[in-house]
This record gives sequence, structure tokens and C-alpha cells, in this order.
Amino acid sequence: MNIAIVGSGYVGLVTGTCFAEVGHNVICVDNDDAKVAQLKAGKIPIYEPGLEDLIRKNVQLKRLHFTNSIGEGVEKSQVVFIAVPTPPQHDGSVDLSYVETVARQIAEHIKEYRVVVDKSTVPVKTGEKVAETIRRYAKPGVEFDVVSNPEFLREGSAVEDLMKPDRIVFGVNSSKASALMHEVYSPFNAPIMVTDLNSAELIKHASNSFLALKISYINAVAAICEASGADVEKVAAGMGADKRIGRQFLNAGLGYGGSCFPKDISAFIKISEELGYNFQLLKEVEKINADQGERFLKKLRDKLWVLKDKKIGQLGLAFKGNTDDIRMSVGIRIAEQMVKEGASLLAYDPKGMEKCNQLHPDIKTVNSAYEAANGAEALIIATEWVDFKSLDWVKIRESMRTPLIFDGRNLLDPSEMKSLGFEYYSVGR
Ligand code: NAD
Repeated sequence: MNIAIVGSGYVGLVTGTCFAEVGHNVICVDNDDAKVAQLKAGKIPIYEPGLEDLIRKNVQLKRLHFTNSIGEGVEKSQVVFIAVPTPPQHDGSVDLSYVETVARQIAEHIKEYRVVVDKSTVPVKTGEKVAETIRRYAKPGVEFDVVSNPEFLREGSAVEDLMKPDRIVFGVNSSKASALMHEVYSPFNAPIMVTDLNSAELIKHASNSFLALKISYINAVAAICEASGADVEKVAAGMGADKRIGRQFLNAGLGYGGSCFPKDISAFIKISEELGYNFQLLKEVEKINADQGERFLKKLRDKLWVLKDKKIGQLGLAFKGNTDDIRMSVGIRIAEQMVKEGASLLAYDPKGMEKCNQLHPDIKTVNSAYEAANGAEALIIATEWVDFKSLDWVKIRESMRTPLIFDGRNLLDPSEMKSLGFEYYSVGR
């Protein structure tokens, strides 16, 4: 099939590449000229495991193309995906201006039947608005359908998540669009769930909110573990062995961050409010999450007494492991707070430093975990990079001025760290 993806970021670029990988002809559109030029020159603007090879292969096979012309995408493709940002506004609601702009641009270029698929995360009923907008701005009589196809990929394993999804959800109001969507997705051999438009949109917000709820729940349990001397890892393992609960997303730590969870949860609260429901439960999820970083900093202040002029190393800036994405990262928030309190901080992240240097010049970065630890009076782990597990911890202990570790992601084994001579603090154990 001929497919266009409007918006070539974490979602659009990976989706387009995976569509090409299963044999479709894909045009990735972006209005960021520099990004398009970079992609055309074979440079990949984001880090995702496995992505670079797949892009290279599919560009060579002429199944994957890049352009800044949405007209070209709409003209050459039966199905046009929208994967542009839906950032939060000050009151927690979603800024839908990117989606609206693209809907109008599609309308201006549409000449014959097209399926317009919203893959951006949007409030329920956005699909109806997109359809209304296209109808208003397109030539009279032009046929099209709007579909909602929420994306569930996780940054850091986006290629794998897209190639082997747990399920594919699309909400459609027409059998013609449904048939074309089946054609898009049949090569993936994954369960396909077809719903109405509004339900598909709600599935995304309801899923992300539920996952965030699991994280905040285990963080609340971690506070009880700390107060009672229990071990949250053991509690989570015991809970997670129950199939009705599941072990995933029961990892105590600094809480959730990133470009999705924080904005999606506040959006869901706002949407519910507009629809007449006070989603108190999710407000509490947000509060627990916000408190989690503060509780961690308090632990640090309790042990180090004064942060001013203390030499502190930080491992991890990305919002999670395996990504270069630092948007709404708890690690960034914590680093900035320590700098504000006068700590002399040196941070390291395997992939997130370039973006950190561009956007947060107040956070000083170094080129290795060992440099961050050298001479430090405390070392913080803020991101769950597996690479940090296999560092030479003996070397690190020897290079630190005082060997204190604050593991905000429960990445390391407490007894092992203690036996290596560290004073070791983590979350809920
Ligand atoms: P992103 O910022 O990485 O990428 C968006 C891209 O859209 C950018 O390259 C930007 O230049 C481009 N763009 C903006 N306006 C445009 C326009 N008018 N025409 C063409 N291109 C335009 O964002 P993302 O992380 O890929 O997220 C996209 C959407 O997918 C959001 O709604 C997000 O909530 C949702 N989502 C994200 C993830 C994730 O893990 N990142 C997962 C699931 C869903």
C-alpha cells in the first residue's frame, strides 16, 4: 500500500519505517526542514534501538521516502497517518493545534478518497473534529474517512513494539476504511481490535492512565515499605505473580516522566472534567508522582545535610533507559533542583546528553559514569539504564570522596553494594 505519515518524530518515524519493513511504500512527511534534510542525508535524528539499520535498508529498497511536502504525501498515498505532537497546555488540557493544522492541510490537498488516520494521542471526540475540519476545508464532494489508531509503543523498544504489538486498535465508522486498515496491518500478524472512533481514542488515555496508576500505587507502597522495614521488590514480586495484577509497571522509583504519561494523565483528568466527571483517583496518581522526586531529594538532604558545594555525580538524564529522550524527565528535574541548591553536579547519560546540553546548559555533563563519580560525595542513579549495572563499582567506590549511592531506580542490589563498601540508599527497601 502507499502510506503517508505526517510527523516524523518518535512515533511517526518508527511507524513509517516499520510499515516499510513489512512491504508498504511509505512517505514520511515533516515540516521541520532540517529534520527532513538530515533524514535524506541518512542521519537519524533520534535514538531507538534497531531503527537506523531498518531505515537504511528500506531507503535502499526505495520503500521509505522523506519529504517536507504534505501535498506530496496526500497525493501519493491511500492512507494518511497523523503523528504530530499533542503537547499539554497550562491547564492540563491538550493543545490540538498541530492536529488541526494537519487536518486543514490534508483537506487542501485531498482530491480523491483517502483514509485519514489519527495516531497522535488525542482526547475522545477529536476524530469527529478532524472529520468536520476536513469536510469544511476540502473541495465539496471529496470522499474520505477518519480513523483513530492509537499508538502504544514504548520509547526504547519502539521498533520491537511496533513489529510485534500486543494488539492493534483502530476505531472506524466505515467498512471501506476498516478494510484498508486491515490491509495496512495484516502483515504484522497481531490481534486487531476494531471499535468505534470514540472508544479507540479512550482506550489510549485509559491505558496510559492505568499504567501510571500502577506506578504511583507501587510508589505509595514503597513509602509504607520504608516506614515498616519491608522490601518493595519482594512485595511487587509477590503481587505481580498474581496473573490478575502482573509484575510489569510495579517498579518503585522516582516516578514516571517522559513526553507521554504526565501529559496524558492530566489530559484525561481534564477531558473527564469537561464531560462532567471528577477523576479524583487520577489526581492522586499525579500527586504521588510529583511527591516521589521530592521524597528522594529529601533523602539526599537528610544524609548529605547541605547540598550547597557538595560534589554530586548523577547517572541518567533520559526519562527512561534505552532512549535519548529527556522530555519531562524526572532525572532532569532532580538535577536542576540540585544545581539550584548549589550542588556541584556532574551528570552522565549514555544517549541523553546531547539534548540535555542543548536544552539545559545549567546541568554540566561529562563523558562517562566514571568521570561523574570521580571525587563525588554522592552518586545518584536517576535512569534505569542496564549499562549502569555492569559498571566497575569497585573502581567507582575507590574514586569517590565519600561512597554514598542514592539509587532512584532500584537498579542495583543493596547487599552487593553494601558489601562493596557503599552506603547505599534506594526506594522502598
Ligand atoms: P515528536 O515531537 O517526536 O514528533 C512529532 C513530529 O511532528 C516532529 O518531527 C515535528 O516536526 C512534526 N510536525 C509538527 N507539526 C507538523 C506539521 N504540521 N506537519 C508535519 N510535521 C509536523 O512527537 P512523538 O513523540 O512522535 O509524538 C507524536 C504523538 O504520538 C503525540 O500525540 C504523542 O502523545 C503520541 N505518542 C507518543 C509516544 C511516544 O512514546 N513518544 C507513544 C505513543 C503515542
